[in-house]
Amino acid sequence: MSTKTFDIAVLPGDGVGPEVVAEGVKVLRAIEHRLHGVEFALDWHSVGAGEFLLSGDPLPASAFAACGRADAVLLGAMGLPDVRWPSGVEMAPQLDLRERLDLFCGLRPVRLYHPNDTPLREAVAGAIDIMLVRENTEGLFSSRQERHAPDATLVDDRLRVTRAGSERLFHAAFREAAQRRRLVTLVDKANVLPSMAFFRRVFDEVAAQYPDVRTERVYVDAVTLYLVRRPHTFDVLVTENMFGDILSDLLAGLVGGMGMAPSADIGANAAVFQPSHGSAPDIAGRGLANPLATILSVAMMVRWLGHPETVRAANMIDAAVEAVMSDPTRRTADMGGRLRCDEMGDLVCAKLELVSDKALPVVARAS
Ligand code: ATP
Repeated sequence: MSTKTFDIAVLPGDGVGPEVVAEGVKVLRAIEHRLHGVEFALDWHSVGAGEFLLSGDPLPASAFAACGRADAVLLGAMGLPDVRWPSGVEMAPQLDLRERLDLFCGLRPVRLYHPNDTPLREAVAGAIDIMLVRENTEGLFSSRQERHAPDATLVDDRLRVTRAGSERLFHAAFREAAQRRRLVTLVDKANVLPSMAFFRRVFDEVAAQYPDVRTERVYVDAVTLYLVRRPHTFDVLVTENMFGDILSDLLAGLVGGMGMAPSADIGANAAVFQPSHGSAPDIAGRGLANPLATILSVAMMVRWLGHPETVRAANMIDAAVEAVMSDPTRRTADMGGRLRCDEMGDLVCAKLELVSDKALPVVARAS
């Protein structure tokens, strides 16, 4: 049988990025030997604020080209608080990557594995299982590249919504929901912002094409209340860029924090997988980071690759994480435990050896 090689560009980046990516790669290598006819070729690149300090470019052309060529990109985190553009904004090459590769669809799933991990009372394992679909290339981030004179007396940011950008996002959300519990909640501010009223109109048109999926429309302020009060009632949330940025942190907070929140940024021709968290400079270099968000991002990546063997790999990684999390004494410091970053990676690998892939469901490609 011939072997299929998947090329993965690996960008560890700044802060805790290299630490958590090392664990993600450890898991990828551990699963590789259980697959038949599939291997992963890793192509490592330096990016981020650290790379900017070395070369003057946080996203060198060679790294960007590698991302375009690869079957998928595994990214750690980029940016450091003290390394800023003259305008004062932090360097964010991960946003450049999203925009330049047109990775319009941000998938940010959260799942509660154990009741001890949520600040909410009475939540049981599995009661929080939400997929946030975030628009990634327009919305309130769309004028982030504009520069203003230091003595400007007015600076405004545009919330850009296009029909094409919204339609493709909503189709992705409905496809997600069709594989889950068949409910899509649009999160907007249609009562105040004309751009959001337009967003809702396009949503209604797309929703009509998916009669088997239930829909609801909730204002962004209200959804923060509902997510805290009754998170179990949500399945897929779809929203614009900035609202998605904020809500993804709230969702992470419901299931144990940033260390538990994976993500995928998907476009028509490329996809980047990374933990939802940033470079966490406050804990970097001390072995304190929780690698599970990155490990779960690796699972999303291999699922997205869409080969039957990589989908099997995704199911096994998810099952191994679930097995680790079923024991509440096994946690990293951010979740009140004593495990170090590499110990958590080792634990997931040990569980991988134990999970059987026979009974696992085969889940279709995410989008
Ligand atoms: P960004 O703006 O890039 O999203 P940020 O500065 O808002 O980044 P993070 O870097 O995500 O925020 O960090 C927020 C908090 O979460 C910090 O206290 C950080 O230590 C913690 N944190 C983030 N990631 C992890 C992780 N993998 N493990 C443990 N704690 C983490």
